[in-house]
Amino acid sequence: MRDFFHRRSKFRPEKGDEERADLQIPEDLWIKCPTCGELIYSRELDGANRVCPKCAYHFRLRARERIAQITDPGTFIEWHADVLPEDPLAFTDGVGGYDRKLVQTQSKSGETEALIVGGAAIDGTPVALAVSDFEFLGASMGSVFGEKLVRAIEDAAAQRLPLLTVSSSGGARMHEGLFSLMQMAKTVAALARLGRAGLPHIALLADPCYGGVTASYATVADVVLAEPGALIGFAGPRVIEQITKQKLPEGFQTAEFLLDHGMIDMISPRAELRDLLASLLAHYGRAGRRPTRHPHVAEPLAVAEVVALVGAEATG
Ligand SMILES: [Zn+2]
Repeated sequence: MRDFFHRRSKFRPEKGDEERADLQIPEDLWIKCPTCGELIYSRELDGANRVCPKCAYHFRLRARERIAQITDPGTFIEWHADVLPEDPLAFTDGVGGYDRKLVQTQSKSGETEALIVGGAAIDGTPVALAVSDFEFLGASMGSVFGEKLVRAIEDAAAQRLPLLTVSSSGGARMHEGLFSLMQMAKTVAALARLGRAGLPHIALLADPCYGGVTASYATVADVVLAEPGALIGFAGPRVIEQITKQKLPEGFQTAEFLLDHGMIDMISPRAELRDLLASLLAHYGRAGRRPTRHPHVAEPLAVAEVVALVGAEATG
């Protein structure tokens, strides 16, 4: 295909180097699907929510792409963008310092941290959002990631908003050591307060979701959704095989496997996600849950109720 376009240029009048650069085919014009090998025109892929039209493989989304896909246009307002990561341990590895790595990652990704939080509306329902960006150090959870999430949870509680988290992450950020691990307890404690305030947390797990993120806030939710085919786990399959010395079953750690084993509540294809979220939010809004002092007793019932309600609506 590239040769074809290059041949065409021969029949055009000669142009200066600067103009000729515009005729170059950008590298990302055609994208190859990693599962079926189909070559997809990038604009067609964008129009299809970045889902392969042939095999329905869900390509990874940047955080802001995700926000644009699920929220009502023009409603997203970012919160706490001024909270910036630092290098508390003066960490260095074989490649260099974490401080330098942060600056490089910030300029490459166009984001200041791996988590974007804010308020938006989904089908008219106001919601607090926290969306991780895998392009930023594998969306690893460091101290500022955790802090932004906790502030968003507290904002949600103060404004009586439901919370939606979208997580795709490699886990804790090793460059911040113990400070990263502490975020697991800190975020889950904030979610417990949100639960006590009677406000729901809906979690969407996207490929890949691992480590301290899966093991903390991302799965402590009233409803846990996942994208088709997403890999979700704590340790990776190779590590588990080495430790247990057992061959893992087929499909291990896929969203479908987790649904079969009761670890998540639903799988939502990306094209249906917005409607599903709108439906869940509407049900929680109507349910009018009262604040409770015993969230561990009350919440499992609420999950079952909402899933049953949504299921009834889908079939009836
Ligand atoms: Zn495909």
